[in-house]
Amino acid sequence: MWFFSDEHRMLQSTVRQFAREELAPRVETLDHEEGFNREAFYKMGELGLLGVIVPEEYGGAGLDAVAATITMEEMGAVDASTTLSYLAHTILCVNQISNNATPEQKRKYLPKLISGEWIGGMGMSEPEAGSDALGMKTKAVRKGDHYILNGTKTWITNGPNGDVFYCYAKTGDTKRDISTFIIERGMKGFSTGKKFSKMGMRASPTGELVFDQCEVPAANRVGDEGASVKMMMRNLDIERITIAGISLGIARSCVEVATQYSKERKQFGRPIGSFQQIQERLTEAAAWYEACRTLTYTAAKMWDIGTMTPKETSMMAAKAKLQSAQMATQVALDAIQILGGYGYTREFPVERYMRDAKLMEIGAGTNEILRLIIARQMLGEAADADAT
Ligand SMILES: Cc1cc2nc3c(=O)[nH]c(=O)nc-3n(C[C@H](O)[C@H](O)[C@H](O)COP(=O)(O)OP(=O)(O)OC[C@H]3O[C@@H](n4cnc5c(N)ncnc54)[C@H](O)[C@@H]3O)c2cc1C
Repeated sequence: MWFFSDEHRMLQSTVRQFAREELAPRVETLDHEEGFNREAFYKMGELGLLGVIVPEEYGGAGLDAVAATITMEEMGAVDASTTLSYLAHTILCVNQISNNATPEQKRKYLPKLISGEWIGGMGMSEPEAGSDALGMKTKAVRKGDHYILNGTKTWITNGPNGDVFYCYAKTGDTKRDISTFIIERGMKGFSTGKKFSKMGMRASPTGELVFDQCEVPAANRVGDEGASVKMMMRNLDIERITIAGISLGIARSCVEVATQYSKERKQFGRPIGSFQQIQERLTEAAAWYEACRTLTYTAAKMWDIGTMTPKETSMMAAKAKLQSAQMATQVALDAIQILGGYGYTREFPVERYMRDAKLMEIGAGTNEILRLIIARQMLGEAADADAT
């Protein structure tokens, strides 16, 4: 991007090399076996990637949202699943603690999360509350110097393997009575339940967090009681921008593989790249990728500059995520088509990219929910009016 600083470019080249050396050699096996690249997290810690936007005084790299999006694109181009786990750790857990926790909480949790000794995650979704996140049922009741939590979180990235979770629970009866708690593996009454087997993002463990009379010290509550909705929504914006970065990485790799294949594969005595229908798929994919790249990094840059209203920032984030996610799935499907039979096999990575890309249209707000958010902003009350 034209506005990348020298620091951004250096980061881009460091992460590109890291992805090539540490992620690429294991990506196929981990996808096949539904494993987890634990070693990569220690390496990310050494490289300063786990606290990419955390201020330096807390051990972070002190960079910005553009930098975080660069890390997602570069890693996502090689191994989108490990990148999803990286996003849950860095953006959903570490960044939230860095932004909202007390100095004591930061000193307690950030060093080990930023070094990679601990793996982090975030628990918002529940079996009956996905898109309707405020409909969550997990309840926290204060008893002296601790809270008792009961409920279940589901689809939690790094649930099966994580050590620390940034979790939301109801502390009152209204939809907005939501508080945040830092949960540690080993707390009494806390366990990780079922691990899900998935079509894509298979090297990013997804599972349940179960609270059964779980005792959480009041000192682990983040922010005031019942005051978490704003923090939760604000973080969804940066989650959407950075997750769009993973979509960019997936799409870029698909375009590269399909372009190379179109030059090499011959049918009817000519490279398939000489056929206009192949050119159409390739060029549309390349152009859509560039458009989404511009939109996503502009959203990140505007987040960093901070001159937009929170509503405007949310709209940019929602639009960047909505378009990039659909673009990545379509570009991956087009790459499969261009590679023909080979595209459908595990001889080439495009089928994996397609399976991984689909998650981008579901996590962090489905396409439908993002359209709803954008429509409400555009149409106001008319967006919700009954058509009959
Ligand atoms: C691999 C993976 C990792 C995840 N990681 C995390 C995580 O780390 N932490 C976390 O908290 N959550 C996580 N999630 C949960 C994710 O955010 C939810 O899956 C997502 O928000 C959708 O919720 P849902 O699955 O319950 O679908 P539902 O909300 O049940 O939606 C089902 C369908 O109905 C549509 N729909 C719902 N409401 C409307 C509406 N008002 N108008 C139109 N259509 C609507 C949806 O778009 C969708 O197509 C993860 C999910 C997956 C699959």
